[in-house]
Amino acid sequence: MDKVCAIFGGSRGIGRAVAQLMAQKGYRLAIIARNLELAKAAAGDLGGDHLAFSCDVAKECDVQNTFEKMEKNLGRVNFLVNAAGINRDSLLVRTKTEDMVSQLHTNLLGSMLTCKAALKTMIQQQRGSIVNVGSITGLKGNSGQSVYSASKGGLVGFSRALAKEVARKKIRVNVVAPGFVHTDMTKDLKEEHLKKIIPLGRFGEPIDVAHAVVFLLESPYVTGHVLVVDGGLQLTI
Ligand code: NDP
Repeated sequence: MDKVCAIFGGSRGIGRAVAQLMAQKGYRLAIIARNLELAKAAAGDLGGDHLAFSCDVAKECDVQNTFEKMEKNLGRVNFLVNAAGINRDSLLVRTKTEDMVSQLHTNLLGSMLTCKAALKTMIQQQRGSIVNVGSITGLKGNSGQSVYSASKGGLVGFSRALAKEVARKKIRVNVVAPGFVHTDMTKDLKEEHLKKIIPLGRFGEPIDVAHAVVFLLESPYVTGHVLVVDGGLQLTI
């Protein structure tokens, strides 16, 4: 059977590194993001038979349409990676409601919608593996990121509950929780200062996280797990 994986947020950063690793391992991939041009460029760079789709994960109709198109053009999706995410960092007292809503909708509701859509086929096939990209902030909390942390903490509760719900259908659900990783999301952070609190002394690279994502996708007896990939940061905060 074909190994078909949908990677939401596959056009840049961590999702893109996951796509590069999975392409090398022979998966057929759907690279999904709002910006279709960037998604197409990322899919094209992989070589081979991969496709790009435009989708806003926060919109249910977009997600449903995307799954219909993927099934038609790539076949049944049996692997799912949720790496789409945004941050709107600010102290809660200064955070606009619209920024709370956009973070919760993209980071939490978005993953719920893609999981729900993917499960239709996975349940029929009695086969499937999902990895949701959370964050160390969802486990530890971070000042200036209360809403983002809530979205990522919620993703852990959601993923663990869903893992229980679908285990009998032979579907696994896991979470990777990265620390600081070099991507567009972290480009404005004060790296010199922050890396002093990371035991391994450096920010992660997207490929560091990608290896953990693929490990969980392919580990047949691991479900409901949260794998922290943070250079030891959780030991110090
Ligand atoms: P990037 O900003 O580099 O990439 C984000 C990706 O998500 C892009 O492909 C973007 O494409 C896509 N995306 C954003 N919003 C939406 C949306 N509404 N619908 C569909 N796609 C969307 O971020 P990272 O690679 O750094 O982050 C990936 C995941 O890892 C996120 O969930 C993030 O919260 C998490 N994370 C990142 C850390 C880091 O240090 N970088 C640390 C911990 C967790 P487009 O804009 O075209 O839609």
